[in-house]
Formats: sequence, C-alpha cells, structure tokens
Amino acid sequence: MESPHGPPSFFCPSTMTPLARHFAALRSCERCPRMLKPVVVGRPVASRILLVGQAPGDKEPLLGRPFAWTAGKTLFKWFHGALGWNEEDVRNRIYFAAVCRCFPGKRPMGGDRVPAPDEIEACSDWLAREFELLGTELVLPVGKLAISRFLEPAPLQEQVGRSFQIRYRGRAAECIPLPHPSGASPWHRMAPGKDLLAAALRLVAAHPAIRAAAGPAHS
Ligand code: SF4
Repeated sequence: MESPHGPPSFFCPSTMTPLARHFAALRSCERCPRMLKPVVVGRPVASRILLVGQAPGDKEPLLGRPFAWTAGKTLFKWFHGALGWNEEDVRNRIYFAAVCRCFPGKRPMGGDRVPAPDEIEACSDWLAREFELLGTELVLPVGKLAISRFLEPAPLQEQVGRSFQIRYRGRAAECIPLPHPSGASPWHRMAPGKDLLAAALRLVAAHPAIRAAAGPAHS
C-alpha cells in the first residue's frame, strides 16, 4: 500500500551509504506534529531480520534505543532462551524498526497514546524503505499493532506460533509474529500464550536468516 506522503526524502551527502542516509533522514523526521521527539532508532545493522515494535514508550527517548526498559528486558530474555544471544548480540544482528518511531505521549486517562492511523501511515514509508535497503527475509512483528501491519486481523492465538509468507509494499518475506512482552499483558505468561510463544521462538531459531546471522555480528 502506498502512502499519501510519498517516499521519504534524503538530503544527505552522497558519500554516505544508503543505510546511513536513511538513518540521517529518519532521525530528522518531523512528519507527525503530535509525536514527541527525538525519533528513536536502533542500530544501523545490515541485517535481513527486521524486528518491528509498536512505538517507543517514555523511557526509550531518554535512553536512546528501542526496547530499552522493562518490555525490552523480557524480549531479550526470550531471545536469549531461544537463540543463546545476549542483548548486544540481538541488537547487532537484528534491525530494530517500529510501526512508529516516536513516543506518542500519554493518554489523559493514563497509559501511552496509541499512534493514530495517519501517524502509522506516515511512518510506514520508513519501514518500506528498510525492507528495500536491507533485503528483509524475516519479519518479527512484536505485539498486535505491529502484527496488524503484515497480517489480517485475527486473535493472537491464531497468529503466534505460526509462520506466514507475506508481501509488504510488493516485497516478499517470512513473518513470525510475537506477542508484546509488556508486563501489562499476561497473554505470554498464561496458556495458551506461553506455549504459542515457545513455538514461535522455535520457528525463529530455526529460520535460515537467524542461522546465517549467528556468525560474527556485522554492521
Ligand atoms: S512517528 Fe515516524 S513518521 Fe512520524 S515523526 Fe516520528 S519518525 Fe516521522
């Protein structure tokens, strides 16, 4: 699906690599006036594995990386259990993207604001560019909002624990959905979520892109 905003613009020196130009442009993005800055990005790793989170919380902009707080601790514990990779390994071997890269702010009644459809659409251009730049083979959407960018709406128990062949903006990839590791949701700690998460992580561990990335980290 094409965005009404068109593709991202790049204004960086021609000596930069395409991924470095992408990062520079992404970091300075100001498309969404309701989103709070800074833009939160992961590491510019040339990985064929793309993890897609929802949106940063209030801690990530301060700490300067996605999944920097409690949900991240759980996520990295999952990867360590399934792959034997520590947090550094994961951040160096998997490209961290998100549905929206800026903190949406708090809702008046508490909790983080869910990104609005126009913000999701605006940020999807960055995601599409990353698919193209990285030659993504494996997508790991984390949580319902991220999963909904790639799969038709369905209960989590029909999506987690399975692998899907997808096309995103015309590019083919395999998609293994993961639940959100937030402490606020008990889904991944209770039946059937716990077993489905374990099945999903087994699929991740067996994927050729993961096995290929298990060698020396590259950036
Ligand atoms: S959410 Fe995405 S599109 Fe919107 S300002 Fe942040 S980086 Fe730009």
